Parts: sequence; structure tokens; C-alpha cells
Amino acid sequence: MSGRSAAAADLRVYALDTGLIQCADYALYSPAAPPGTYAEMSVRSYLVVHRDGLLLWDTGIADSIAEQPDGERLNQTHVFRVPVTLRAQLEAIGHAPADVGLLGLSHLHIDHVGNLDLFPGATALMQQAEYDAAFGPDAEELTYIPEAYAALDRNRIQKVAGGHDVFGDGAVVTVPLPGHTPGHQGLLVALPETGRVLLAGDLAYSVADYTAGAVRRLNVDLDASRESIEAARALEASGVEIWLHHDIDAQREIETAPGYYG
Ligand SMILES: [Zn+2]
Repeated sequence: MSGRSAAAADLRVYALDTGLIQCADYALYSPAAPPGTYAEMSVRSYLVVHRDGLLLWDTGIADSIAEQPDGERLNQTHVFRVPVTLRAQLEAIGHAPADVGLLGLSHLHIDHVGNLDLFPGATALMQQAEYDAAFGPDAEELTYIPEAYAALDRNRIQKVAGGHDVFGDGAVVTVPLPGHTPGHQGLLVALPETGRVLLAGDLAYSVADYTAGAVRRLNVDLDASRESIEAARALEASGVEIWLHHDIDAQREIETAPGYYG
């Protein structure tokens, strides 16, 4: 073995609470839910602190919604709320948005790209397939709202295909998990104390659906979704913890900043 370890000794992950989704029809997300079921979904972003730089994984729901006491109603079935802004959470742990050099994006849905305008100097890392779909002619058909990521500087996008070793030491690696969107991805972080954690994005909306292999019907590719769940399960079987950020009950067990996982 060389001296390089896959778990960098000073690596840490902060879970940031980047909003709450109140949904009047959870059947849109979970095949197990009867139509018209009310549910709340958590939203998380993650600050990965590596000796070579800061990576923010997803940017959550827009901070501007924090100014609306009743949240923002998107449509008949969805209200977005932001109890604490992303900016305030970063500042509370000693980081300004300008310190973030790299934005890792699981995918380009509105609850994952809400604060891109806070990071004009950052490079956004996404799967090539996500870029092609979200900026292609069929974006709306593929469930994107292009205005949601209009703030992305197209000259500052790093497109990767499949697993990409972000810092070159094996500690932070992208994991393609397509299906929810064409280029949906997770991030595998090898923490020195906590062990390996997969930030699994919207692989499934609940631990129950993930465990049952129940795929959301509105995903763009149901077969790919099933295969992505299988891929995550294979990682879990090898000792990886799977973090499903929209599962509000599961998230109560995961400490948010200023606490962190090292
Ligand atoms: Zn989402």
C-alpha cells in the first residue's frame, strides 16, 4: 500500500438544513403513499471540508424564501419554507459563500440549486448526462425548470462521466445514480471517524422506499432508478451509510451544523 489513504484525516462533512417542502400529495414522490397524503420533506445540503478546498453539495431551496413567513407556494401541492438561510449556516461555521470553490450538484431540480447566485465564482460539478439533459432541447419534458439554474455560469461547469475522484485522494468521489434525472448522482465521502457515507440525493424519498426498492413513478427512467438503488445497496452492504436527505424522520438522526461528521 502507498501512504495515500482514502480517508483524509482532516476531512469533515457538515449537514446543512436548506429548507422544508410541505407537500399535499406525497404520492407524487412515494409509490407507497395513497393519493392526497400530506407529508413534509427535509432538504439538506452538505459542506465537505477537505484540506484542498471546500465543496458544497447542492445549494438547497433559495434563501430569499426565508423572508416569507408562510413560505412560498409553488403550486397547488407544494409550499417551500426556509427556516434558516444557507448563508447564515455557512457563516455560523466560519465560512463565507466566496470560500466555496466547488459546487457539487446531485441534479438540477429547484430544491437543489436554489442559491446558485451566492456562488458566482465557484465551479459547478455535475454529470455530463445531467448537463446534456438540463441544457438540451427536451429539458422541460425531462422535469427541469431551466429558470431554476439560470444563474449557473456555463463557463464554470466541470462535467464528469461516472465516478470522479474530486480531490485526487479517493476521499470524495462522485457516484452516478441516474433515473431520477438522466444525470442524477451521489457523493461518496470517506470520513476518518464516521466511515464512508453516500450523500444519495433523490435516489429515493424515504428509507422505506429505498429499502423496498420502490421507485417513484415520475422519475425519468424507472429501470435506471432501480439499478441505482441496487448500486447504493451494494455500497451499503460493503459498509457505506446511505443518507436520504428528503426523509425528514431519518434526518432527525443526522446532526446539522454547527455539528459535523469527521
Ligand atoms: Zn429533491
